[in-house]
Amino acid sequence: KLYNQVMDLKGNIRVYCRVRPFLGNQPNSFGCVDHIDEGNIAIITPSKYGKEGRKLFSFNKVFGPAATQAEVFSDTQPLIRSVLDGYNVCIFAYGQTGSGKTYTMTGPKELTEEGLGVNYRALSDLFHISQERRHTFSYTVSVQMLEIYNEQVRDLLATDGSIKKYPLNATFSQSGINVPDANIVPVSSPSDVIYLMNLGHKNRAVSSTAMNDRSSRSHSCLTVHVQGKDLTSGTTLRGCLHLVDLAGSERVDKSEVTGDRLKEAQHINKSLAALGDVIASLSSKNSHVPYRNSKLTQLLQDSLGGQAKTLMFVHISPEPDALGETLSTLKFAERVA
Ligand code: ADP
Ligand code: MG
Repeated sequence: KLYNQVMDLKGNIRVYCRVRPFLGNQPNSFGCVDHIDEGNIAIITPSKYGKEGRKLFSFNKVFGPAATQAEVFSDTQPLIRSVLDGYNVCIFAYGQTGSGKTYTMTGPKELTEEGLGVNYRALSDLFHISQERRHTFSYTVSVQMLEIYNEQVRDLLATDGSIKKYPLNATFSQSGINVPDANIVPVSSPSDVIYLMNLGHKNRAVSSTAMNDRSSRSHSCLTVHVQGKDLTSGTTLRGCLHLVDLAGSERVDKSEVTGDRLKEAQHINKSLAALGDVIASLSSKNSHVPYRNSKLTQLLQDSLGGQAKTLMFVHISPEPDALGETLSTLKFAERVA
């Protein structure tokens, strides 16, 4: 309850920053990121980026390299409860490729119990809370998994392994299902969802044979639709949770890429910019919110703004050679915060 009030005061948009640890056996040198405290980081900019110094950035929360998956999730948890209260929620992972987006949302490649990411924990909480409420509410939960690649929406839960393209619902339906033709699968336990997530990841991998790791160049969106029936009054409420692993935000050098790769990059830039524009105009309470500028913002239109709640995880890499991207990520984040 208190959390909901806090969210309302903040316009329902929160931005958390997560700094990935150094990887592999790199010397644990002092990176360009200095995690100051719960809400602040400083970026150390060497002289080749202009005046040498420290740039300070503030967020609702900053998770340093030692933060565990459980710690990261504990600040996300209240949002899961509000999905069951009938709110729409979007959780985004933003950052350059390799900064830890998939780690936050899904986990490390070799999944362990402690490694489980936001998606797993959110679903397990969702079922747990709905069980707790079983004497007052009867919930039904179903899942869609979509990918947006080159401004086309694809269904990752196509059981025949084909990746189908779907149009978006032009007019947003009461059901809250914006891609009604894509598979929507009823689930009754976290393991049902894990099965579907694995299917989705497999389908995504199948379609990426032509180009290496397409997953970094498309957005993936796991959507959980929840319908709750109040057992006393008979009224129903609806909420949904979108868990979005965004395409890598890195800028590509236009002089170096051509053809398909350039087209991909342009689509990514366009849709990430559109997402930034939408969230920035929501947080500055602009009356015009430019949802129409990308498939991503159209898909999520009824879950961005209004009563809906948004959490953006911005990820940064600590390595000095990532400094340029780190600064542009933080600038994006600052604009939406
Ligand atoms: P992205 O999805 O942004 O491209 P990944 O999530 O795949 O990045 O992360 C890149 C690599 O860094 C992976 O090997 C991942 O396991 C590792 N990694 C990312 N974040 C962390 C973290 N917080 N702790 C440990 N390893 C991490
Ligand atoms: Mg990834």
